[in-house]
Amino acid sequence: MEFDKIDVPDEGEPIEVIDEEADEFEVPETPIIPILHGDGIGTDVGPAAQQVLEAAANATGRDIAWMRVYAGETAREMYDENLPDDTVNAIEEFRVAIKGPLTTPVGAGFRSLNVALRQKLDFYANVRPTYHLDGVPSPVSEPEQMDMVTFRENTEDVYAGIEWEEGTDEVEQVREFVEDEMGFDETIHSGPVGIGVKPITEYGSKRLIRRAIDYALEHDRDSVTLVHKGNIMKFTEGQFRDWGYEVAREEYGDEVITEDTLWEERDGQQPDDAVVVNDRIADNMLQQVLTRTDEYDVLATMNLNGDYISDACGAQIGGLGIAPGANFGDARCLAEPVHGSAPKYAGQDKVNPTAMILSGVLMFDYMGWGDAAQLVKDAVEETISSKQVTYDLERQIEGGDKLATSEFAEAVVENIEQLA
Ligand code: NAD
Repeated sequence: MEFDKIDVPDEGEPIEVIDEEADEFEVPETPIIPILHGDGIGTDVGPAAQQVLEAAANATGRDIAWMRVYAGETAREMYDENLPDDTVNAIEEFRVAIKGPLTTPVGAGFRSLNVALRQKLDFYANVRPTYHLDGVPSPVSEPEQMDMVTFRENTEDVYAGIEWEEGTDEVEQVREFVEDEMGFDETIHSGPVGIGVKPITEYGSKRLIRRAIDYALEHDRDSVTLVHKGNIMKFTEGQFRDWGYEVAREEYGDEVITEDTLWEERDGQQPDDAVVVNDRIADNMLQQVLTRTDEYDVLATMNLNGDYISDACGAQIGGLGIAPGANFGDARCLAEPVHGSAPKYAGQDKVNPTAMILSGVLMFDYMGWGDAAQLVKDAVEETISSKQVTYDLERQIEGGDKLATSEFAEAVVENIEQLA
């Protein structure tokens, strides 16, 4: 593939896809990995994460051929556009990539670059693990009970972007259609209205839920919980739940059992290597993650519910400076922290790079580099539990040692070298 303004590094090799749908690929010893540092604090956390991930790759006998790609502010300087083809093509071609946050100005005219990237490359599953690292301050008394992974559908629901602005001809046409042709004639109040459409397809729901179940099986998790508001939105959220149970019943044999079957046929006794699929209503789920934290493992959600629930989970284990994420498609992964570009702190070498570093852990795990992933996780935990932390955690830890972003990354690298 030809690139306009960026070079493919000479020393690395691309990840080779064996079977795209089956998510099978081969990772060379020195893969080419596109990295996008991002806007705002991306200029701080991007290089810090790069340094740490490279150290872990080297410590486990591998290397990474980084390929810098650009979007947002840096792309506007280089290419005069927000999301250049070079960037999309590099992520498409090299399959596994990592990015920092990108700024989306509110109401300033351009669409979220994150949403554009996810849609262009069909990254249909946004995965957000929430687990507690020793030493991270938390607002709850037993944060170690939190160990959940949210699989959030990335392409549909109200985020599909099908909505009409108040005062336009289009929104009035939709109102007329809904009232006159669909028979909801007293449902929408008169006067200005904005209307959105929430599509939930069988295709979109099932592929996300399959991914969550596969993950649970591969990682020895006990359960997958389908989160929905199907009591009210029966034909969208309720249907998501029903399709989820269909996948569980029809596609996995004895490996997967539904909660009903567990009680009706097995008196609640779960076989050791089976995954139980259950469901919870979204508002109840927001309570359950607080009150019955250790009973949940993997959550499969539509887009909006997943956003709320993963943030609520994240708050229990240290918040935005810590929370990692990654987007997955068929044989592709784009790791990215949950947090945004926090422009107020940009370029100050101050914020916490842990979220982006731990996003790299998800990427390594996906690449089959489990030992490197574990090494990064252990080194971050060692650094934080020895109270060497950035400002966000330091102010909550008595006797904490306040480090700059770059100093924290160096401390993690030292721990990687000692633990390897
Ligand atoms: P934000 O996550 O950027 O920041 C909110 C606050 O969280 C910050 O002020 C800071 O106090 C804290 N914070 C965030 N990251 C931190 C870190 N690494 N270390 C320590 N503290 C941290 O959210 P926002 O202010 O709502 O959004 C700013 C911009 O980022 C917007 O343009 C938004 O659209 C964009 N955004 C991008 C992404 C993404 O690229 N995936 C995600 C969310 C928001």
